[in-house]
Amino acid sequence: MSMTSKIKVATTWLDGCSGCHMSFLDMDERLIELVQAVDIVYSPLVDAKQLPEVVDVGILEGSVSSEEDVQKAREFRQHCRILVSLGDCAVNGNVPAMRNHFKLKDVIERGYLETATLQPQIPTRSVPALLPVVKPLHGVVEVDVFVPGCPPHADAIWYVLSELIAGRMPDPSSVTRFGA
Ligand code: SF4
Repeated sequence: MSMTSKIKVATTWLDGCSGCHMSFLDMDERLIELVQAVDIVYSPLVDAKQLPEVVDVGILEGSVSSEEDVQKAREFRQHCRILVSLGDCAVNGNVPAMRNHFKLKDVIERGYLETATLQPQIPTRSVPALLPVVKPLHGVVEVDVFVPGCPPHADAIWYVLSELIAGRMPDPSSVTRFGA
């Protein structure tokens, strides 16, 4: 990554609550500084929705819970030079992985049949098929940077991006921790 050209950053969420992206926005006025060095080329936060062929830094929030999540994770891995696992859900499964204590069939029946008050039915269209167990991001693709926290503090995200912009690999262990 060159200091003289902007680095391309892409983000998206898998099975998360969007809280990690909200923490990204919590960088507040530092976002103005950030856009001097970074182009957000793909993200739920911006209009661009086509992942470019080559991206410098990909940031993924959320765990891998469905076949669609697997596809998104693989697509990011394929296109991004450096892949960041952002937040506890991505790093260790966190809240979504709580369903791993139960059989998938029981989870689906609980969610769509037993607790439904109106027309209980299991959806077969427009909902991506769930995996039998929820996985962390590194359970399906190789990850370069792990940023724990639920969500990671904006200062931690700022640190990680600043280091990457400077051409260094960040070590977030000194600035964030699980559940922080
Ligand atoms: S780590 Fe926490 S804030 Fe981030 S997506 Fe998961 S539950 Fe939401």
